[in-house]
Amino acid sequence: MNSFHEEKAIISLIKSCSSKSHLLQLHSRLLRSSHFFTPPIFLSFLSRIALPPFRDLPYSAAVFSTFPAPSLSAYNTMIRAHSLTRGSGRGGLRLYQELHRSGFSSDALTATFALKCCAKAESFSLGAQIHTKIWKDGCSSDGLLLTTLMDFYSCLGKGGDAWKVFDEMPQRDVVAWNVLISCCTRNGRTRDALALFDRMKSSNESPPDDVTCLLALHACGSLNTLEFGEEIHRYIVENGFHSSKSVCNSLIAMYSRCGNVEKAFEVFDQMANRDVVSWTSMISGLATNGYGADAVAAFWKMQRENVLPDDQTFTGVLSGCSHAGLVDEGRMIFASMERDFGVTPNVHHYGCMVDLLGRAGFLDEAYGLVNSMKIKPDTAMWRTLLGACRIHRHVSLGEKVIDHLVEVKGLEAGDYILLSNIYLSIGNMEKVLEIRKMMNDRGIETTPAASSIELNRKLHEFLADDVSHPKINEIYRMLDEINQQLRIAGYVVEATSEFNTGESNSTPYRMSYHSEKLAIAFGVLSTPPGTTIRVAKDLRICVDCHNFAKILSTVYDRKVVVRDRSRFHHFRDGRCSCNDYW
Ligand code: ZN
Ligand code: ZN
Repeated sequence: MNSFHEEKAIISLIKSCSSKSHLLQLHSRLLRSSHFFTPPIFLSFLSRIALPPFRDLPYSAAVFSTFPAPSLSAYNTMIRAHSLTRGSGRGGLRLYQELHRSGFSSDALTATFALKCCAKAESFSLGAQIHTKIWKDGCSSDGLLLTTLMDFYSCLGKGGDAWKVFDEMPQRDVVAWNVLISCCTRNGRTRDALALFDRMKSSNESPPDDVTCLLALHACGSLNTLEFGEEIHRYIVENGFHSSKSVCNSLIAMYSRCGNVEKAFEVFDQMANRDVVSWTSMISGLATNGYGADAVAAFWKMQRENVLPDDQTFTGVLSGCSHAGLVDEGRMIFASMERDFGVTPNVHHYGCMVDLLGRAGFLDEAYGLVNSMKIKPDTAMWRTLLGACRIHRHVSLGEKVIDHLVEVKGLEAGDYILLSNIYLSIGNMEKVLEIRKMMNDRGIETTPAASSIELNRKLHEFLADDVSHPKINEIYRMLDEINQQLRIAGYVVEATSEFNTGESNSTPYRMSYHSEKLAIAFGVLSTPPGTTIRVAKDLRICVDCHNFAKILSTVYDRKVVVRDRSRFHHFRDGRCSCNDYW
């Protein structure tokens, strides 16, 4: 056999290795022969060991270092391997610099892989240098490279630079659009992400694909824009993407996050194959929408269907228990996590348990659990406990929790408000005013709370006592009328209910209009009778607004759905899905 054929045979042997141990055995055999350092054989072996599925970076780095004169392709393989592994990407950047020092001129692939390493290593300066080099080398029409460049800017929070690259691209494929959309959602420009989806739909250049739909559904979920989400759902069905499991999983998540759990269940129910993500999305959706018992039932059902829960499933089901006050179930599931499923509880699971026990009044047990944890409690956990102290008017524990928050330097404006609400609930006005004064003296400012409502795909936002909306006079007139109607039905404004973070500068003696009341009044004003009113609020809803929405739902015969910071409230016929337990 001549050497050319021999070389080909060895390369196909390398390619056919089905396990890493086979490949390593072959390596030692090749080292004993003279073949290994023949460049094509060496490169073939290097790619096999460095890249997926085997991906052994330390081993491939050792092999690479033994080769006296690695080619550009060998460098590219190694830089690519660094971009694909979990490490910092810095090793890839060192190789990139070494490559240039050794006098090689790199190509578009080198730049693509190096940019991925730059994104991982958060090295903006080197990435920008590569960008300049791309223009100099005349690679500015390479779609894959430019898309990677956009992704690099997006990862480093430079959304503007990513847009610029996109605008200057001679041709944009669907991948480039998708990168730009995910750049928007990543950098807090969620509305722009949806506008891009619209642009793609109306242009013939690159219509949205299934990945675009996933990204846009995620954006709808975080913006609570059900109408837009429904439109994407129609597009998905029209284009046959609904047979994809991940698309269905995202639909479930979107509908759940927009408060339409019935629709989420419909999608879930029609799926032919459900994986752990489908079940987890459904369980979490049921949990945040107030169907805790159903979430627990689904948790048992998934196991009967032989789908094993993962850590996120546990977060979902435990939050369902806490929202619905299912203490025994919660305790049981929490105890089974590690024992039966090998899932070690993380900070979120403990957070759910503290919430569950705290809300249900087992404050000492909750405090004991926090103190017994092997992991360090985060500020969110202390804040959860503080919230429970407010519900159960437990002043001394509340003060202790504040001390812990001070200790971890995590005290925020909202915590002062919570503490003052604890004092308020036991009628200790002296302390309430003391805290207010302290906040003033220390210049602690609260961020204004906002509520939003979507009408014909336009988002209307309100702050407390807002006067900025163009229809504000009509809205206040509507609110007066609603108040009159509700009073007849027995609604009493809780003048000393409580005050929320950032909900106006009202003193506890005067109830002003919280932002959700303005949004609800605008909803009553602007939609035909019987339409469901959906409001999103960035903080917890207060007792007074909760009563207001409950009575309104019966007097005006409307379903009202309020998504607050941590859950949904579905008001209907004078009741709320949370059973006043939130
Ligand atoms: Zn309120
Ligand atoms: Zn409620």
